[in-house]
Amino acid sequence: MSATAPAHDTTVRTALLEHFRQFAAVFDSMNVIVYVADLDTHEVLFVNPYTESLFGSVVGKKCWQALQAGQPGPCPFCSNHRLVVDGRPQPPYVWEFQNTVTGRWFLCIDRAIRWTDGRLVRMEVAVDITARKEADALREQILSLISHDLRNPLCGMSSAGQNLRDRLRELGQPELAQVAGDLVSSAHRMDALIEELVDTVRLHSGTLQLRRAPVDLAALVRGLAFAMDRRRISVDAPVEPPPLHVDASRFARVVENLLSNALKYSPADSNIEVTVGIEGEEAVLRVRDHGIGIAAEDLPRVFTRFFRASGAQKKAPGLGLGLYGARLIVEAHGGRITVESEPGRGSCFRVALPLS
Ligand code: ADP
Repeated sequence: MSATAPAHDTTVRTALLEHFRQFAAVFDSMNVIVYVADLDTHEVLFVNPYTESLFGSVVGKKCWQALQAGQPGPCPFCSNHRLVVDGRPQPPYVWEFQNTVTGRWFLCIDRAIRWTDGRLVRMEVAVDITARKEADALREQILSLISHDLRNPLCGMSSAGQNLRDRLRELGQPELAQVAGDLVSSAHRMDALIEELVDTVRLHSGTLQLRRAPVDLAALVRGLAFAMDRRRISVDAPVEPPPLHVDASRFARVVENLLSNALKYSPADSNIEVTVGIEGEEAVLRVRDHGIGIAAEDLPRVFTRFFRASGAQKKAPGLGLGLYGARLIVEAHGGRITVESEPGRGSCFRVALPLS
């Protein structure tokens, strides 16, 4: 008995050592900040080699002195109070932060863990996201450039075109006035496309600011349907929802997109039925057409970026961004957009928005 125990101990020790080496090899080579600090005294208890390469030897120092710059005491943005509530560890707290020593941005995941001596301590894992932040800033600069600097000359072209059109009419040149009018319409269409593109990128990145105000949904839908094709589109609103708190111009784009798709993807003599009503706690808009419909396998993809069903290009030009943008706008308002369709029989798009 006494002769076999040491051999067994050695095997266990060797296995543990190997396990530890594997763990250390992986952990020490991670380019991710990992540190542990006391929740009350803020003393740093542990750092991985990557953290040490950025901040030097910091174990034993206060985290606000060692890992941050210019803090006279515990950092005002310290997340410790979120990590333990009533003595219980909370779910991880995830946030983005620009480090005051390195100036680099990190995605931080903070949580309370049980330390080797039994106390609850703060552990932070932080990944450098500076490249993503710089790309975000560049994207914002480009979007501002597109939405202001590119649209300004377009606006100039449009008003010059309107003046020219009016002058040509006065001079009794209706054909040339029509050409000038076409120029104005093209400038408006391009302006709307630029706005839609910029909005879609902002919605995708979650940086679009909605301008909400009370909107009469039935009136908005009637106005658009009337302007787009009063002959083919009928609007029925047996129970009109109360004014909804939405971004009117963005929401109008959703409706325009559904109506123009219904017109594009159905025969020129077919009707499009629009209904507006209330279902439970939601205002519901339905746009039903009797057109080509959408194949069952395509239905899950119609609200994704750049999706166009096979044959759509032959039927009508488009980028496949309209329904994607519509979904982002509806979801930004806390609503849902869905579709039911049958190939050859038509489609019914449904938009549901919370009433309050
Ligand atoms: P676009 O119309 O510019 O291609 P959308 O994002 O608005 O882009 O629509 C994506 C695709 O969904 C369309 O290309 C078409 O294949 C399909 N689709 C959208 N609306 C309808 C509809 N009412 N009927 C049939 N297919 C439709």
